[in-house]
Order: sequence, then structure tokens, then C-alpha cells
Amino acid sequence: MYKCFSCQQELDMKDVEKRIICTYCGSRIIVKKRPNVSKKVKAR
Ligand SMILES: [Zn+2]
Repeated sequence: MYKCFSCQQELDMKDVEKRIICTYCGSRIIVKKRPNVSKKVKAR
């Protein structure tokens, strides 16, 4: 999942791969959105 850094809209991966540009606002700053998986690592 990709997200526009400028307008925070979620972008379709197909569109982004075709052209790295926000289809909503035309921004070229696209960030990869990570699913909310918080891994707990035990530090020892
Ligand atoms: Zn945008």
C-alpha cells in the first residue's frame, strides 16, 4: 500500500508502479505504508 505524503491519500500500487506520482494531487512524494504490525522483541 502506498500513500501520498502530501495529501495523505491512499494510492493504488498499480498506479504508483506505472508512474510515481499521486493521482490525486500530482505530488511525487509517495511513501510506502506499512501495515500496523508491532513486533515485540525481547531485549536481553
Ligand atoms: Zn497526493
